[in-house]
Amino acid sequence: MNGENNNMLEKILNLRDYVQKLEDISENIINHLNSLKDLDDSTRNIWTSDVKEFFHNTVSAWEVLTTITEGEPNLKNIDNSKSFLYAARNHLSKIISELKIFPSLKTSILIEKAFKECWDAFWIVLKNLLLEKEIVKPTKRVIKVSDLEYHLPCSVCGKSAVEFRIGYGRLDEKESLVFRGITLETSLNVKLANMLFKILQKKDLLGVHNFMKKYHSFEGVDAYCPECDKIYCWEHYNAREEYDDGFYDCTYGECPKGHKRMIDD
Ligand SMILES: [Zn+2]
Ligand SMILES: [Zn+2]
Repeated sequence: MNGENNNMLEKILNLRDYVQKLEDISENIINHLNSLKDLDDSTRNIWTSDVKEFFHNTVSAWEVLTTITEGEPNLKNIDNSKSFLYAARNHLSKIISELKIFPSLKTSILIEKAFKECWDAFWIVLKNLLLEKEIVKPTKRVIKVSDLEYHLPCSVCGKSAVEFRIGYGRLDEKESLVFRGITLETSLNVKLANMLFKILQKKDLLGVHNFMKKYHSFEGVDAYCPECDKIYCWEHYNAREEYDDGFYDCTYGECPKGHKRMIDD
């Protein structure tokens, strides 16, 4: 292993301190939940497991990076680490919305601050690791996979962000037009496919967005920023779930240019 790799290894190992801090705060929250006499057991259990899930995701984000140091940096590990971080951030939104019921509790502020520090430290390492990888710039707006399937790649990283295909969605009993975006998967009437595929052939992303607005929901294509006229993956749309008293409320996306909109409700 050369010097540069050792340096990276050290940076990855140093992330453990941030994770440790989150563990301490998570434990405090769980202890606090256990000490609350007027909290019913089922709420206590749900909230406790939310805190545990949050912490486990953070640990996993770190663990998948430690395996990198044993060999070549591998895009899959980096991707997995990111996914765990995003999952942790979503759990944190949920936890914060639950803790709001106790306005006196300063823990919300503590855990948000500690997670922000942890998040930033992780991204410095992740960006460093990615620098060593060649990033293939996406050139296509629409990818035709077959007569039955089209993909829309992220305009930043090229990762497939949206898929339209004729087939069977998870709960479908008959053939449908299946849409899979960055926040949801849904099935539309297969008869609409012809119309949509014509729009896709013209590479008209706004047309696709308007199609989804008309036939699915007001948010349209969740991965699409109308102001940029571009597609972004979960990461590059900086998508964030929001919670209200522990219940999922909606997801916001903010593109790299700073355009923000609700992408799922
Ligand atoms: Zn992307
Ligand atoms: Zn934008």
